[in-house]
Amino acid sequence: MSDCIFCKIVEGKIPCKKVYEDEDMLAFHDINPQAPVHFMIIPKKHVASLAHAGDADAPVLGRMLAAAGRLAREQGAPDGFRTIINTGRIGRQDVYHLHIHILGGKEPLGRMMPREGA
Ligand code: 5GP
Ligand code: ZN
Repeated sequence: MSDCIFCKIVEGKIPCKKVYEDEDMLAFHDINPQAPVHFMIIPKKHVASLAHAGDADAPVLGRMLAAAGRLAREQGAPDGFRTIINTGRIGRQDVYHLHIHILGGKEPLGRMMPREGA
């Protein structure tokens, strides 16, 4: 998609700090990291969001998830990490090219969601 930032990153028109690449997917560091380790895994094919994914996307989505643990360890999250896929308006998605955030580091992250009264 011509006006998609992440498609431009896939095409090399916008630079990124690459973590991993193969024929189907690309992983790169988030420009505004929210944790000591924060990168994203995206399919090279433009899929706007998880709500737009279908059966044809299942193999690459599976491969993206299957790569997450190895890439997280390589990037300095040896003992677990958090995966986030923001989807649509309600999920507060900003970039409409499906991406899995991988967040972690050496210390536990904050709680996933603020809890009332906690
Ligand atoms: P979302 O809110 O859609 O789940 O996340 C989009 C993420 O993309 C944000 O965390 C933001 O920092 C990141 N981002 C936006 N533009 C760029 C960019 O040009 N390069 C990189 N590496 N990350 C970006
Ligand atoms: Zn795109």
